[in-house]
Amino acid sequence: QAKERGRNNFQFFTSDMNLRLQQRLELENDLRKALQQNQLLLHYQPQIDLRSGAIVGSEALVRWQHPQRGLLGPDLFIPLAEQTGLISDIGRWVLHEACLQNRLWQQQGFADLAVAVNLSARQFQNLQLVEEVLAVLRDTGLAAAALELELTESLLMSDVQTAVEQMQRLSQAGIRLAIDDFGTGYSSLNHLHRFPLDRLKVDRSFVQSIAQQDSTIARSIIVLAHELGLEVIAEGIETAPQRDFLLQHRCHFGQGYLFSPPVSAADFGALLRQAVFSPAE
Ligand code: C2E
Ligand code: MG
Ligand code: MG
Ligand code: MG
Repeated sequence: QAKERGRNNFQFFTSDMNLRLQQRLELENDLRKALQQNQLLLHYQPQIDLRSGAIVGSEALVRWQHPQRGLLGPDLFIPLAEQTGLISDIGRWVLHEACLQNRLWQQQGFADLAVAVNLSARQFQNLQLVEEVLAVLRDTGLAAAALELELTESLLMSDVQTAVEQMQRLSQAGIRLAIDDFGTGYSSLNHLHRFPLDRLKVDRSFVQSIAQQDSTIARSIIVLAHELGLEVIAEGIETAPQRDFLLQHRCHFGQGYLFSPPVSAADFGALLRQAVFSPAE
């Protein structure tokens, strides 16, 4: 009887795998069409100067309006896009759309607004990247200084020398560079000073820890950033005490649900027109 049950379990397991494989293939097929059929869109999360409460920029975050499955977040399709190579086209589209939209807001009177775009490993390793980014800036009329590219530690550390060279080309073109999710990836502090960086982004897990009375890492990252001459921005700020703590420790920029979740371009435009978020006490 145990044997019987075992066999049934096995069958259940394989059919489950088949189902998942099939779903994956379907998703991959759908993703190929998503770009042509205009199903991808960007949401924007405001980045705040914590001292004044003003919006100084946004982070562009990709979404997929799937015809059957509804609005999908990047964690559900960016890894697949990476594996299949679709990320090149998607990444280029994201970059173009974000720059175009930010230029539009600048023309509407928010002249100093900046935009941050996430880069995947494959995009960063592409040796045409600098030319592609410059072409997008030319096409959209956005100044290089208004664009920040977010990279992860693991991506930079896998081949430090190549990463340094790629970053130098971007940085010399005037594009800003940030390390995203700082403190969560594999990072060699030894190499950190070699990268032409502008900012560190404190990962939201460390911001969350502040509330649980464990602020050691958050404080250390802020100090490290300053020692390296970098700006520091905290992500995932959800409470006023977190914001106040960060500001006290001279982390001057932040984003998170306390201010706003990522919102559509139309809603972000409305935020820009109405909002100065209340500064810390
Ligand atoms: P990320 O770059 O670290 O983006 C921050 C994530 O945290 C976003 O999730 C955002 O919605 C979420 N978040 C913002 N504020 C809060 C908060 O206060 N609390 C909590 N719990 N979460 C908050 P999202 O939009 O699902 O994006 C997930 C990840 O997908 C991003 O992490 C980024 O690594 C990747 N991603 C997003 N857009 C793109 C893209 O265009 N290209 C690439 N290559 N990756 C992207
Ligand atoms: Mg990011
Ligand atoms: Mg992050
Ligand atoms: Mg992340």
